[in-house]
Amino acid sequence: MIQAVIKGAYNLLVGMGVTFKNMLSKPVTFQYPEHKRVMPERYRGRHFLNRDEEGLEKCIGCSLCSINCPVNCIHVVSAENDPNNPVSKGERYAEVYEINLLRCIYCGYCEEACPVDAVVLREHYELADYDRKTYIATKGDLLVYPEPNQFSVNFLGNTKIVNKQ
Ligand code: SF4
Ligand code: SF4
Repeated sequence: MIQAVIKGAYNLLVGMGVTFKNMLSKPVTFQYPEHKRVMPERYRGRHFLNRDEEGLEKCIGCSLCSINCPVNCIHVVSAENDPNNPVSKGERYAEVYEINLLRCIYCGYCEEACPVDAVVLREHYELADYDRKTYIATKGDLLVYPEPNQFSVNFLGNTKIVNKQ
């Protein structure tokens, strides 16, 4: 009986200790949306399509991303490049490139499968909207990034920031 009381008191003190410790620590809550969390470099958020240093689209329309997508949410239609006015450095480019962001499970397989580091998943996580149509990200949407060409995929298939100013 006495042992049980001592044990109970001890557990109570341990619990109160945890409470007091957390009372003195800084809050971890972010006052979103005023303060936005900086996501880790390897976070897999919204997709983007990279351009190369000459401004050409990196995507060569090979459809490897689409083939490797486990939920079949990437639609690619490729076309032959005009040698006088190429869109990409390859023989072909993606005439149509669309991702259904609602069906996507953000696994990153497309990024790993891409042979030219064209498609990348970045830290953008604010994807909420009222209209389902906005979740079909077209090539035009995917090519727009505030800091273009700053990302590449390393040998493990993870994106990393390059030329960060
Ligand atoms: S992240 Fe995964 S599910 Fe989403 S488009 Fe890429 S391969 Fe498909
Ligand atoms: S994003 Fe990469 S894998 Fe997908 S079609 Fe373009 S080049 Fe091929």
